[in-house]
Amino acid sequence: DNPKTLEPLSADRSSLKFNDKLLPKIMIVGRPNVGKSALFNRLTHRREALVYDTPGAHVTRDVREGIAKLAGLRFKILDTAGLETFTEDESILARTATITANALGKCQIALFLVDARAGMQPQDMDVGRWLRKTAPHVKVVTAVNKAEGIHNDSSGRLMAAIGEAHQLGFGDPVPISAESGEGMADLYDSLRPLVEEAQEEIEKDRGGVQEIKEEDVNAKALPLQLAIAGRPNVGKSTLVNALLREERVLTGPEPGLTRDSISSEFEFNGKKVRLVDTAGWLQRVQVKEGPAALSAMHARKGVMMAHVVALVVDGEEVANTRSSMRHAEAALARWVVQEGRGLVIVVNKMDLLSGKENAKIRADVMKAVPAEIQTILPQVSGVPVVFVSALEKKGGAAIMRNVFECYEKWCTRLTTAQLNRWLRKVMSRHPKNMSGIKYGPKVKFMTQVKARPPTFVVFVSGSGELEETDLRFLASAMREDFGLDGVPLRILQRSTK
Ligand code: GDP
Ligand code: GDP
Repeated sequence: DNPKTLEPLSADRSSLKFNDKLLPKIMIVGRPNVGKSALFNRLTHRREALVYDTPGAHVTRDVREGIAKLAGLRFKILDTAGLETFTEDESILARTATITANALGKCQIALFLVDARAGMQPQDMDVGRWLRKTAPHVKVVTAVNKAEGIHNDSSGRLMAAIGEAHQLGFGDPVPISAESGEGMADLYDSLRPLVEEAQEEIEKDRGGVQEIKEEDVNAKALPLQLAIAGRPNVGKSTLVNALLREERVLTGPEPGLTRDSISSEFEFNGKKVRLVDTAGWLQRVQVKEGPAALSAMHARKGVMMAHVVALVVDGEEVANTRSSMRHAEAALARWVVQEGRGLVIVVNKMDLLSGKENAKIRADVMKAVPAEIQTILPQVSGVPVVFVSALEKKGGAAIMRNVFECYEKWCTRLTTAQLNRWLRKVMSRHPKNMSGIKYGPKVKFMTQVKARPPTFVVFVSGSGELEETDLRFLASAMREDFGLDGVPLRILQRSTK
């Protein structure tokens, strides 16, 4: 088998759109000529800078807005160069100050830029006062620009400027050079916690409105879609009966006896479940020899509709053959994961293996099935396996507990801040230390683009792409660290250039 078909780790790159609207916003503020435009250009790599007209009758100036990338950080950056016109009587011209203030009001962070070569000017103090007054909610980082060569500056003039900038009262100033790029690592260190905090807030807000509306509320109101799949005669109909607690589905030893029009909704612990039709369950396709492939094919339709698939196997048969998975079942299990559905394995007919005399066989079966699943689906470690007797109505609750647990993991949402804190830690564990290698792709940051199933994009820069093994490493570390074992995860990569 081609391992690449087990879990699509790098498919469908084209359909991904990173939502720029959800990025934190940083505004560069400062008096004229400190290098705001130069910094804007450096952070946006002079690309993606989109200019829009600010509404206002006499206004000809614009707020420039672009997507900034600073090492692993990604944020929106706003540049107000040209808007900070000064007049005789008033420090900042009222008209343009209004535009700036409005734009600043939508930002979480201000990057207060001063000039190391000119030293602190009265106008810098004005900007500082204006910042405090206009946007007290905005976090401020002070950067002292034009500080290239500060560490070799024998005159001490540049260092002195840092000391002066301290008096602006916005914490430790960061010496940078927009022109040479010096100090960008320090700027990153100062901005990182603020950007991550802002990102977390944004995602929380979003979770409070949009996501809950779309996913959680709906998901809670709507039933979990469960498909019961498996070969003929493993006991699917009997199991469905046990779950529905009504003899609505006819069972019998003769194949093909199942009625197909049944009401298939029930509640488990107050939560709705709808059984999705799989042809392996409604077994009209099951005719004598060679039905496995056919019913597996039919079952696929059900799988497409399902959130979670319970794949039923016959425990007695496992005991006799020492194998739970025939070809068709293994293929179905793989397919379920490939389609990004949750998977729970149900080993039925355990009543036939009860009693002291069967203890050894029972133990073997309980060991063999998880081991076999692990072989068939090496990446999705921890697929739940439940041992039941549908006939004796034993194990239904255990099945449903596992189904819901799987479903909840399947709906997992991780914030970008959470992910990136984790990413930094996990990178140091990686044998190749992906962020540390000199050549080839570098892992920059990671974000979750969707849930159901959890789908992530890892942004890389540098040459080439991450290999399958790297993505697998990330997926399995993620499973372990976020408790996402047993559910399909998708990790896609995208180049940030
Ligand atoms: P703005 O008015 O704040 O947008 O400032 P600009 O970005 O237009 O820069 C003003 C002047 O400072 C220009 O002549 C830039 O070339 C210069 N400048 C900007 N950044 C740096 C820097 O990091 N080092 C030095 N030496 N000059 C800079
Ligand atoms: P399906 O074809 O997968 O829907 O299987 P059925 O539910 O029709 O069951 C096939 C046969 O297995 C029937 O004779 C059932 O009575 C029997 N069966 C189903 N579940 C169990 C079980 O838990 N224990 C035992 N001993 N027999 C079972």
